[in-house]
Amino acid sequence: MIPYGRQSISEEDIAAVVSVMQSPFITQGPEVESFEQAVADHVGCSDAIAVNSATSGLHISCLALGLGPGDLLWTSPISFVASANCARLCGADVDFVDIDSKTLCMSEEALAEKLHHHKAHGLPMPKIVVPVHFAGQSCNMKAIWELGQQFGFRIIEDAAHGLGGSYTPPGKEATPIGRSDFSDICAFSFHPVKSITTAEGGMACTSNKALAERLRRLRTHGITRNTAEMTKPTEGLWYYQMLELGLNYRLSDIHAALGRSQLKRLDAFIERRRVIAKQYDAAFKNLPEGFSTQFVPSYAASARHLYVLRVPAAERSAMLNGLRDEGIGVHVHYIPIHLQPYYQALGFKEGQFPEAERYYSEALSLPYFSRPLRRRPLVRD
Ligand SMILES: *Cc1c(COP(=O)(O)O)cnc(C)c1O
Repeated sequence: MIPYGRQSISEEDIAAVVSVMQSPFITQGPEVESFEQAVADHVGCSDAIAVNSATSGLHISCLALGLGPGDLLWTSPISFVASANCARLCGADVDFVDIDSKTLCMSEEALAEKLHHHKAHGLPMPKIVVPVHFAGQSCNMKAIWELGQQFGFRIIEDAAHGLGGSYTPPGKEATPIGRSDFSDICAFSFHPVKSITTAEGGMACTSNKALAERLRRLRTHGITRNTAEMTKPTEGLWYYQMLELGLNYRLSDIHAALGRSQLKRLDAFIERRRVIAKQYDAAFKNLPEGFSTQFVPSYAASARHLYVLRVPAAERSAMLNGLRDEGIGVHVHYIPIHLQPYYQALGFKEGQFPEAERYYSEALSLPYFSRPLRRRPLVRD
C-alpha cells in the first residue's frame, strides 16, 4: 500500500543518531541546543524550544500564556485533536471557529463574526486563538492578529503541518511560518508524516524572550538554574529552584540529532512535494462538478503537508475503498474535533460547524511524501 505520508531517512540521518548514541550524552547534551538554533535560524524567530511532541509544545504554550480554569481557547474544528486538547489539559474551555470552505483553514470572517457576536451578547471571549495551518498552508495571520489586538486574545499557531511554508503579509516580503510576526508562539511537529521528523518531537518558536524563558522552564518541571530568576541567592553549583509546576516534555539528544540532520533536507523535501503537487494539479485541472482541491490564497506558500481532494460526499467512501483496494493509501483528515465523543460529552452538537462537517464528508487525502529515489540498506556494520 502506498501510504498517504511517510518519512525519508538517509544514511546521514542514521550516522547522526549513531554518533549521539556513542557520545557521553544521549539526552540533555549539546544536540538539542544545536537543533533549536538551526530551527530558529531557518524560520527567523529569536527562540526555539525543543519538546517531545507538538502536543507538548501546544500544552506548555497555553500554560506560558496563562491559560487556566475559567479561560477559553478557540481553534479550528478541522484539525488533529491536540489543537483543542491543549486547552483542556490546562483546565480551560474550548470553542471552535468554522473553516473557510475554500482554504480549509479557520475563516477569519467567521472569527470576526463570532468575536463581535460574543462581545455584543456578553458571551465568553477567548483568551487564546489557535489557527491551524491546515495541510501546510498558512492562515490569514495578519487579519487574525489584528482581531487579537482588537479583542485582546493571544495567538498560538498550530504549525504541525507548517514547517517549510511561508506567509506573505499585505505589501510585505514572505515570512517563514515560525517567525511568529503575527502570533505569540508557533508550534511545529516532527512526527514521521510531517515536514521533517525526529520520530516523536516538536518545537515551540517565539520571538518573545520572556515567553521563551517560561517555555523552557515549563518543559523541564518548572525548574530554573538561572540565578537571576531565583527567589534567593544560590546555595552552590548543585542548586536549582522549582518556580512553578512544569512537566518533563524534553526532547532527547538522539531525537534532536535526527532532526538537525533532517532539517538540512527540508527544502529538498518541500521541493519534491511541490513537484508531486504540480502533477496532481495538472491531473485535476478539469474536475467535474462536486470535486475540488484546496484553494491556495496569494498570501500562502504551502509546506505541502497534505494534498486533499474534495469529492461528492455520497461517493467518498466508495472512492476511498476502491483506491485502497488498488494499493493507494488515501486517508481522511480530519474528523471534526467537536464530533469526537469527548467533545460531544462537553455539549458540542452535530451541525454547529457546517463548513467543517461538509468538508469532512467530502475529504480524501492523497499520497504525498518525499522519498529517496534509491532505497539503501538500513543495517550498518
Ligand atoms: C500532528 C499534529 C499535531 C500533534 O503533533 P504531535 O507531534 O504528534 O504531538 C497537532 N496538530 C496538528 C494539526 C497535527 O497534524
